[in-house]
Amino acid sequence: MARIEIIQGDITKQAVDAIVNAANTSLLGGGGVDGAIHRAAGPELLAECRTLHGCETGRAKITKGYRLPAKHVIHTPGPVWHGGTHGEDALLASCYRSCLTLAAENGCRTVDFPSISTGVYHFPLERAAAIALREIAAFLETHPELERVRMVCFDERTRRVYEEALEKL
Ligand code: ADP
Repeated sequence: MARIEIIQGDITKQAVDAIVNAANTSLLGGGGVDGAIHRAAGPELLAECRTLHGCETGRAKITKGYRLPAKHVIHTPGPVWHGGTHGEDALLASCYRSCLTLAAENGCRTVDFPSISTGVYHFPLERAAAIALREIAAFLETHPELERVRMVCFDERTRRVYEEALEKL
């Protein structure tokens, strides 16, 4: 799938139509990639997020990008890992589908994702990577208007795991 790319980097630096934020259900900011996105976007992002009244796990909401080089931020709360028997796989798949649906509805042609749920939410990385890439590939099949979707991996281990998962796709 030529329109899927894996890179290592900082998602807050990417000049794309939309970056995805691995948010929490309050949408009012947090640690990890969420904190980095809010710091880089400036206080206007938090002000817009306050008007959204949160978001359910597995769903997504879109805002402007403010001081980020990205035009939009798509906020999605990933599932917290509770051993895999609490619908975690389906919820993570739903995050990717919900974000891509919102991106397409808003005319975004380039979308960058962080590795949702594999930080403080402790979703197992290999399992998350397989789900992420399967959902992205399936969405791209039916949405030719989307030019490119990247996984922006913050560290080398995460990049390697996504690269291996992409080869197995
Ligand atoms: P979650 O709560 O969904 O687990 P985290 O933010 O804790 O979210 O982690 C998700 C992933 O985002 C982890 O792989 C983490 O290393 C990564 N990450 C943290 N900061 C950035 C950043 N600036 N750009 C891209 N990825 C990041």
